[in-house]
Amino acid sequence: MSKVVDEVVAANEAYARGFGPRSGLALPPARQFAILTCMDARLDPAKYAGLAEGDAHVIRNAGGRATDDAIRSLVISHKLLGTREWFVIHHTNCGMELFTDEVIADLLDDDLSTASFDGHVWSNPHHEGGHAAGHFIKWHTIKNQEASVVQDVRRIREHSLVPASVPIYGYVYDVKTGLLHEVKAATEAGRTLANPGAVAIKT
Ligand SMILES: [Zn+2]
Repeated sequence: MSKVVDEVVAANEAYARGFGPRSGLALPPARQFAILTCMDARLDPAKYAGLAEGDAHVIRNAGGRATDDAIRSLVISHKLLGTREWFVIHHTNCGMELFTDEVIADLLDDDLSTASFDGHVWSNPHHEGGHAAGHFIKWHTIKNQEASVVQDVRRIREHSLVPASVPIYGYVYDVKTGLLHEVKAATEAGRTLANPGAVAIKT
């Protein structure tokens, strides 16, 4: 048996022993919000955003990008489970900044085992045959964290299945300090469009 499997099963048994009142939690998130963030192992949304079980939806993928599948989850989160506010949270030192679509596609084309990174360039330790399929995937890499947050908030805001009443806030999490920094241009792009008429009257 894998060491990791043993550790996970043991940790789970200890967790379940102290499960207590969590058994009565409702399915819809009690605090009615959702976070879209990166899968990076250094990020723990429950800790950095103060979540307990049952509080909020957390949707994670590489980069915390607003992919079709992330939007699918957000739409379910609001439409069926009642969340009313959404956060898009990217972070400093994201692995998605360290490669391009071409780089990962070329690496995969050559070999499928884990590549290594010397701080500048990725390379394959083995060359035992890969597959060309990577050339046909959009990997959603990131060039600039703040720009990617704005891009993702805008994409969600403009999606035809996202109601204008859900505000979307944009943040970058700093892996050196644990602090969330607001990306004002993203939050601005994600503001609710509930009263577009009010703006029109003023101008
Ligand atoms: Zn990341």
